Amino acid sequence: MLPERFADWSYHPDLLARPVPRYTSYPTAAEFTEESFEDRQFAALRALRGKVSLYLHIPYCHEICWYCGCNTGAANKRARLEGYLEALHREIELVEGELHPSVRVSRIAFGGGSPNAIAPTDFVRLIHSMTLAFRMEQPVLSIELDPRSLTPDWLVAIRGIGVIKASLGVQTLDPRVQAAIGRVQPTDLIERAVDGLRKAGVNSINFDLMYGLPFQDDAVLAETLDRTIAMAPERVALFGYAHVPRMIPRQQRIDATALPGQRDRFRMAAEGNARLVAGGYQAVGFDHFALPRDDLARAAESGTLRRNFQGFTDDQAPALIGLGASSISEFPDLYVQNEKNAGRYRMLVGDNRLPGRKGVARTADDRLRGAMIEDILCQGSTRLPSALAGLAQQRIAPFAERGLARIDGDRLVLEPGGEPYARSIAAVFDIYREGAGQFSSAV
Ligand code: SF4
Repeated sequence: MLPERFADWSYHPDLLARPVPRYTSYPTAAEFTEESFEDRQFAALRALRGKVSLYLHIPYCHEICWYCGCNTGAANKRARLEGYLEALHREIELVEGELHPSVRVSRIAFGGGSPNAIAPTDFVRLIHSMTLAFRMEQPVLSIELDPRSLTPDWLVAIRGIGVIKASLGVQTLDPRVQAAIGRVQPTDLIERAVDGLRKAGVNSINFDLMYGLPFQDDAVLAETLDRTIAMAPERVALFGYAHVPRMIPRQQRIDATALPGQRDRFRMAAEGNARLVAGGYQAVGFDHFALPRDDLARAAESGTLRRNFQGFTDDQAPALIGLGASSISEFPDLYVQNEKNAGRYRMLVGDNRLPGRKGVARTADDRLRGAMIEDILCQGSTRLPSALAGLAQQRIAPFAERGLARIDGDRLVLEPGGEPYARSIAAVFDIYREGAGQFSSAV
């Protein structure tokens, strides 16, 4: 029997049954062990040379959305925010003291939470602190923003500092779905945010959108996508909502009976993909889209697309230093995650200690498999080392039989229409994931 087809994709539920990671790293965060990584963090910082990127985590939001799996809490106490910012400044000083003079910062990304939960003056102070502490190489500045708290003062700060990339949490433009996920924000508010950011000099705006939400059907998703296309953000990320209330208790407020099933989710992803492509976007990786003029689309075209803890990126720096509670640093041989709890993070940093409390050292085999997984997700193909060729032949067979991937000499290649299976195909090379795990469905 022929498989069902939705837009450009064929639906093979058996190939999507196994939960797989999103592979923003390999080994994934599930392999991190809990212990002090302070000494290894110091050593890794000292060993850095050349270009690095910085990521600063602000774990606060003015309102907490019911679906959110981020490490964030309510920004309702001034003293709590001030204490956290003081710790961030201290961590910047601690890191500064360890870096070799050749280290140059080429990117600074603010994420969260909602970085605009802090005052714009505090944001400017953080930028000044980093400018004094680190050698800058015309860094690209980016920020995640909650459009509901994007005040005129924030737009002034964004223009003054020279932020050129911004990501807006939009998720859906449908009022009923918004009410069902605890994030109400009228479309005209989003339009004003886009207009304000453009006037402030931001030339790459991303919308985070979701499918698989309660009460969301094809028509509801299509309307959000059409309105998005009309606003013309340079980038769109279309994620599948993962309902895991046992792991994320705030999701218990979402009515699970109103959620679409697996087949509906797949169809929404397929039709969403086709609609965005028809609207002028280029598909990038398995869930990102970019207008052809955007750096992300150019990176996908030129084969330089990368994947890191922030998702698909055109960032080429070989190391990422994470600052703030729960942020993850990526070094060539090591991933380190800072203490997640903001209170404990403050205590550690206040004690002049680096706050890395989880992580994993990457072996040569991890680096090899990680590079293959990144290639599959970013370039749609990878070279098969001879030691893994037999395993690939055997495990790729179910995908190859359905025309989703092929082995071509010493390369594994995803076929057109293989995109929704990319994570499942990549998981073939994941030595830590022989059985099912605690991850989300691939679609
Ligand atoms: S604003 Fe963003 S980070 Fe904050 S709770 Fe909502 S989804 Fe999560």
